[in-house]
Amino acid sequence: MNEILVTRSSMPDMEEYIDEIRDLWDTHWLTNMGKKHRQLQSELKEYLSVENIELLTNGHMALELTLQAMNLTGEVITTPFTFASTTHAIVRNGLTPVFCDIDTDSYTIDVGMLESLITDRTSAIVPVHVYGNICNVEEIERIARKYGLKVIYDAAHTFGETYKGQGIGSFGDASCFSFHATKTFNTIEGGAVCFRDKELGNRIYDLKNFGIHGPEVVEGVGANAKMNEFQAAMGICNLRHIDEEIAKRGKVIEHYRKRLGMVEGIKINPVQENVKPNYAYFPVVFDEKVFGFSRNEIADRLAEHGIFSRKYFYPLTNTFACFNGKFDVDKTPMALHIAKRVLTLPLYADLPLEEVDRICNIILEKIR
Ligand SMILES: *Cc1c(COP(=O)(O)O)cnc(C)c1O
Repeated sequence: MNEILVTRSSMPDMEEYIDEIRDLWDTHWLTNMGKKHRQLQSELKEYLSVENIELLTNGHMALELTLQAMNLTGEVITTPFTFASTTHAIVRNGLTPVFCDIDTDSYTIDVGMLESLITDRTSAIVPVHVYGNICNVEEIERIARKYGLKVIYDAAHTFGETYKGQGIGSFGDASCFSFHATKTFNTIEGGAVCFRDKELGNRIYDLKNFGIHGPEVVEGVGANAKMNEFQAAMGICNLRHIDEEIAKRGKVIEHYRKRLGMVEGIKINPVQENVKPNYAYFPVVFDEKVFGFSRNEIADRLAEHGIFSRKYFYPLTNTFACFNGKFDVDKTPMALHIAKRVLTLPLYADLPLEEVDRICNIILEKIR
């Protein structure tokens, strides 16, 4: 049986990667902001159309250290419909997450509800661009300005996207990207933060390198989150092919949409206006009453055929066992509704359209 996993990491030809890393055997410079690191940094700055970017060892450290560098206090408004990383980065900074519900179309933060959650303890908003759907950045900016709040986007899913022609990483005070193996663009593990204020960037740089500010000056109690040269070399190679990869992912999604878009009981995110997409994920939401089968039944049926989808994002982060029932999930009913019904289907650049048909046939069999 031909097994299909939910994703498959993009890799350059082996020769291309070997060519890229060859000179590391001359220099023996393997990490600590070497040549590859600096090259990738400048290439990404251009590709993402952002003013400033700092590379890190992964997307989680980008989030965690950015929040730390801002010296935030009290409460941070975010959504539970995300990967563990977003909520953990807040909690690990000693901050209290306050969960806002999500919008029915994009599954990003519900800006209609956001303002009602702001208290005098609120210091920041951490909205998540999910699946490549971007948040309502304009409304978030308006609210943040009105109340003097920082905005740190979790942009792990929106590599390379633009909104009204502007790089998505240029919104808010900072945007954190993930270059994990499973993401649209990868450096094996890796991440970056794009930011507005250069001073903030300096603090993040210090935090990623033990707080070392000069050869003999240690100014902060930093961590270690440096992207190494092998990671950066992978990024340099993958970036050469990224437009082609995204275009191929787009073809896969177009085919899924054609097959599933009009089916009663299956909900697919509407295409967002003014957004250059990156086709990061393909989530579908099953309404069992109309469609006839639940998300879990479909996931099991696909698995019987060796096709592995993911219940991404389920469970919601505000229901995680580690939080011991501290958060009331009834305050985010839409997030709960979607989390119980959503399934992300296999998606990667080289997924053949015949396999997309096979997946859709399995999903649609037994209905009519
Ligand atoms: C992948 C991901 C992260 C964390 O990134 P890593 O590079 O795996 O540390 C954070 N937030 C979201 C929404 C993600 O999908």
